[in-house]
Amino acid sequence: MNTLGIGGRGADIVELAGVTREYTGVAALRGVDLVIAPGEMAAIVGPSGSGKSTLLHMIGTLDRPTAGSVKVAGHEVSGLSDRELSALRARHIGFVFQQFHLAAGVSALDNVADGLLYSGAGLDERRERARAALERVGLGKRAGHRPHELSGGEQQRAAVARAVVGEPDLLLADEPTGNLDSNAGAEVLALLDELNRAGTTVAIITHDLEVAGRAPRRVRMRDGLVVADERAGAGSR
Ligand code: ADP
Repeated sequence: MNTLGIGGRGADIVELAGVTREYTGVAALRGVDLVIAPGEMAAIVGPSGSGKSTLLHMIGTLDRPTAGSVKVAGHEVSGLSDRELSALRARHIGFVFQQFHLAAGVSALDNVADGLLYSGAGLDERRERARAALERVGLGKRAGHRPHELSGGEQQRAAVARAVVGEPDLLLADEPTGNLDSNAGAEVLALLDELNRAGTTVAIITHDLEVAGRAPRRVRMRDGLVVADERAGAGSR
């Protein structure tokens, strides 16, 4: 079971209020309010340039807002130093990207074990937990394979294992199926569903209408704003 830490059981895992992010001359986000509760699975959709990646960076505390408030697991991001933010990420958030970002020449086992580098666990424990995470994503027999010896779908599943080996409360995925054929993509999505059912909160950026269509919640972005927030069976709210 995941614990929410200081945020406390039942607190929202993500709370964005009035979040603005300006780059020189461009407002990528223009006052976004968004709450994601523990256990949700949300797809973030919208045209290219609408602010999806910037939003995911805010939620993932990889970047700070120009204005507004970002709280993750009950922690207000603006009050934390960069070091504290790294600790918050290590404890609460897992990331999966379109490019798998596995280290070349390093076994799947050690790629996944590296997901625990900031956890304080020793090498033996990191490897033991990595092995369990690889089993969980169906790659138990591939632990010794290096990335180039794995298919694209297997590489992404290894990346998912690395993202969840620390049992984060929140898994953030930026176009996780963007580089995969439809079969491999479907497997990765099934895996994300399974992790969600087991209690991990998941937010996925996707262009893929099929992925978006099956998510229980769809947050639609346009021009730096959330323009619709729909839940399956509940229509627009
Ligand atoms: P999406 O993920 O929906 O394609 P982004 O969040 O990447 O959208 O971008 C939103 C807007 O912010 C775009 O106009 C983009 O060009 C701009 N933008 C994003 N990142 C930067 C940056 N580092 N510097 C300048 N402009 C940026």
